[in-house]
Amino acid sequence: MAKRVLAAVLALAAAGLGAALWLRSGPPPLEAAAPAESPAEEEAPAPVGFRVPDEAERLYAIGPFDGLAPATRALLTPDPDYLPIDAPGPSDWLARFDEPRETFAEFAAARNRRPEGARRKIYLQPIGEFPEDGAPPLEALREYAQAVFQLETLLLPPLDPGPLGVTSRTHPHTHKPQLLAPQLIEVLVARLPADAFCLLGLTMTDLYPEPSWNFVFGEASPADGVGVFSFARYDPAFFGKPRGPGHAGVLLKRSLSVLAHEAAHLFGLGHCVYFQCLVCGSNSLDEADRRPIHLCPVCLRKLAHAIGFEPLAQHRALRRFYTAWGMDFEADFMLRRLRRAEAAE
Ligand SMILES: [Zn+2]
Ligand SMILES: [Zn+2]
Repeated sequence: MAKRVLAAVLALAAAGLGAALWLRSGPPPLEAAAPAESPAEEEAPAPVGFRVPDEAERLYAIGPFDGLAPATRALLTPDPDYLPIDAPGPSDWLARFDEPRETFAEFAAARNRRPEGARRKIYLQPIGEFPEDGAPPLEALREYAQAVFQLETLLLPPLDPGPLGVTSRTHPHTHKPQLLAPQLIEVLVARLPADAFCLLGLTMTDLYPEPSWNFVFGEASPADGVGVFSFARYDPAFFGKPRGPGHAGVLLKRSLSVLAHEAAHLFGLGHCVYFQCLVCGSNSLDEADRRPIHLCPVCLRKLAHAIGFEPLAQHRALRRFYTAWGMDFEADFMLRRLRRAEAAE
């Protein structure tokens, strides 16, 4: 049976103390969680003493630029657009989890599952309903995945989880329905199209990984190329809170970020320890919101290598996407990067 990884799990303290969030360690845990009724602080892993890499270590992780086109070199240069990773706060991801420091060269030499032969498409499988007022637009998710990964991305017709026999329950505190994530993984593995590199299940229904656990943001099986992620908890209405005026934009950015972060794991990327980066681990929604939506030079180089795309083409596609969906800050970032690349040509 394929090794599974839990994506971030939030444990709500039973006494209503709010959301404490942390992850279970164990190789290769992407993100994980705690049993439903356990006190957060007792269950949280001990601090690991993260050492912030210096500039030489960051440059070494990116690797030498021999043989790269001038535009690619410019896009992989760690200029001030990319902030080095900070020393983590006491409850941040890197204070809790000892992540491997994988350089680009080590990644390139590793035997990760890669898109090859006929298996080169990304499929998105909506599970359940995506209502217009409270769910990210599915077409935006599709276009974004296609831009980031530079692979044809297809949206499958929505899947009704009811007839699939997937176990569900009502969460005792939120009183919201939840689906059992490992069963959804099995459903997706059985439905993986013949030309798919990966199949990502997306749902607005909350998930849980096993009966004794509180909830899970998502779960993935990189060896099978499948994952399932819930956006339910990115909507304040899930917690009975009002949606602010900029809610749709916040929900869209969070959803794009989690989609790209989790799919990056399916391409073999581990959590970033070098820069503030899309692929950094996050121990809470707050930490996830602090994470940029862009890949750092190390992770960009890894992803471009794994898939075989040109960073310049990817940046152009991302700029078009951000402009089309009104994400002005992100569009400006890409425009700035493109100007650096074009000046180098
Ligand atoms: Zn992750
Ligand atoms: Zn990175």
